[in-house]
Amino acid sequence: MTAPPPALVEVREASFRYGERLAMDRVSFEARAGELVGLVGPNGAGKSTLIRLVAGLAAPSGGTVRLAGLDPATAPRREMARACALVPQDPPVHWPFTVREAVMMGRAPRQNLFAAAGPLDHGAVRGALEACELLPLADRRLDALSGGERRRVFFARALAQEPRVLLLDEATAFLDLAHQVAAMRMAEVAARGGLCVVAVLHDLNLAAASCDRLVVLSRGRVVAEGRPADVLTEERVAAVWGLPVWRGENGATGEPVVLPRGRARPKP
Ligand code: ATP
Repeated sequence: MTAPPPALVEVREASFRYGERLAMDRVSFEARAGELVGLVGPNGAGKSTLIRLVAGLAAPSGGTVRLAGLDPATAPRREMARACALVPQDPPVHWPFTVREAVMMGRAPRQNLFAAAGPLDHGAVRGALEACELLPLADRRLDALSGGERRRVFFARALAQEPRVLLLDEATAFLDLAHQVAAMRMAEVAARGGLCVVAVLHDLNLAAASCDRLVVLSRGRVVAEGRPADVLTEERVAAVWGLPVWRGENGATGEPVVLPRGRARPKP
């Protein structure tokens, strides 16, 4: 029997407070090389807070977080940036850079501080632009793109970084249907290629269709974890999201499908 791949993200009993507000309460979870893990849960459940702790943007108030063996909150930034790339929920908008320049910034942790970009850097940038269908936009300025186009640039920048762990915080928000699916396909390809991918997702059907495993957060706690088909039951979705749903299966793929039951308001 082959040993399971190493856990690249290890969160043990981690808690986090914003002042008096307990946003994460003794959360534990692991993600391994080669897997795509979806973090799902209602607004305010603690998903972004968990991603911030894993990315080292904040330190837990209790428990431990490890990323590729590093303590994300205290590890040298350059070392963290080689290990982990984050596609943030609210990427900065007012950057006076072109798309190509923005994606090249993903190479910074791999470049000599005083050397110009080399062939490996240009190759990685081109590959990331191509994967995100951004070659036609490569010379456009970032602040002259639509929200969805800009989101794809940050995805490409993260790919160019060539991390071991890829963190996606609602990376499919603002993307049209085709680009949502394309982004998740890319995340799957990255995972199959050996990356550990952790994605915060609101679209349960997209999450079910692409993730190997789902971790459900509610009120700062992990309330379920496992294969999408096991986790997304009608009872659980109704209890966690507070909405009666119909749970079926995609006839073509067998993946679970969740739809709201009934209408919020009757049609006029
Ligand atoms: P969403 O789906 O709405 O993005 P989330 O699951 O990512 O939500 P978090 O952003 O992690 O949730 O927030 C968890 C809790 O922490 C919420 O109760 C939120 O109000 C609170 N919170 C988040 N950021 C702050 C902040 N800067 N100051 C105070 N409280 C915060």
